[in-house]
Amino acid sequence: MKITDIITAEKPSLSFEVFPPKTSDNFDTVEKAALEIADLKPSFMSVTYGAGGGTSKFTADIAEHILNRGVTPLAHLTCISSTGEAVKNQLKLLKEKGIENILALRGDILPDTDLSKSDYRYASDLTKEIADFGGFCIGGACYPECHPDSPDSESDIESLKIKAESGCQFFTTQMFFDNNILYNFMYRLLRRGVDVPVIAGIMPVTNAAQIKRICSISKSALPQRFLRIVDRYGDKPEVMKQAGIAYATEQIIDLYANGINAVHIYSMNKPEVASAIKNNISEILK
Ligand code: FAD
Repeated sequence: MKITDIITAEKPSLSFEVFPPKTSDNFDTVEKAALEIADLKPSFMSVTYGAGGGTSKFTADIAEHILNRGVTPLAHLTCISSTGEAVKNQLKLLKEKGIENILALRGDILPDTDLSKSDYRYASDLTKEIADFGGFCIGGACYPECHPDSPDSESDIESLKIKAESGCQFFTTQMFFDNNILYNFMYRLLRRGVDVPVIAGIMPVTNAAQIKRICSISKSALPQRFLRIVDRYGDKPEVMKQAGIAYATEQIIDLYANGINAVHIYSMNKPEVASAIKNNISEILK
């Protein structure tokens, strides 16, 4: 099933993300977690793509297992260190496995990224390639608090317009912890005429160590209300987990209440977190 059909339906959607293993030794553990999450019957599940593409086969394999479990997969694909040939091979592999949805990404430019080896500069270049290949529903990333590489929010929105015009049919947001930031961003998108559906990405913070990682990968503002929870419960793992799930649940209920009908959970291969959130909003999802 195409993601666009799922997220534009009247019923609210709830989806989960998993990431593939870095080595084949961990494949079984990740597969087990992914299938446990699939058994919760989410609207769809996304499978991330390792930076540099070294684990591209794992992404395709995990996505295939999710599909075989009866859940629609969304396979991520990055392009910044890829050749056109490598991308086409991955597209062929995904098609052979029956995967219909791709999240087209640039990938981070790291100090060791060799740009001379890349046939692509932006995610929109990849989006065009996938659209020309044909047969996939294509999504892209967006950043309610602006991508760190963007000089300002105007140019950031302009890039999203280019991405939508290159064939991107939906956006998934970077995590955010204050819903007003998303509502403001949605308004700016619409004002610029970008009207592709947006899926809100929510990260349940279930341990204090995650905060450090969040700050290193995104510009997400951490509201006082949220920081107080981490200050008070960060050193009590079970309490932090419960509080992080409750905070994410509150964000999700507010999003649905304000007409954002598609929510994606950065579930970090944790079936118990995915399950707790789904149970907390079971009546809303009916
Ligand atoms: P782009 O859309 O190319 O944007 C990157 C920068 O270039 C932005 O500043 C943008 O404004 C600018 N830009 C874009 N197009 C143009 C243009 N035509 N002209 C001028 N400027 C332009 N990383 C992984 O490695 N694997 C994953 O699986 C993965 N999944 C992700 C899922 C989500 C939902 C999100 C939000 C991020 C994910 N990332 C992943 C991280 C992502 O790869 C990085 O944030 C990366 O730095 C940017 O990727 P992008 O696709 O948004 O790039």
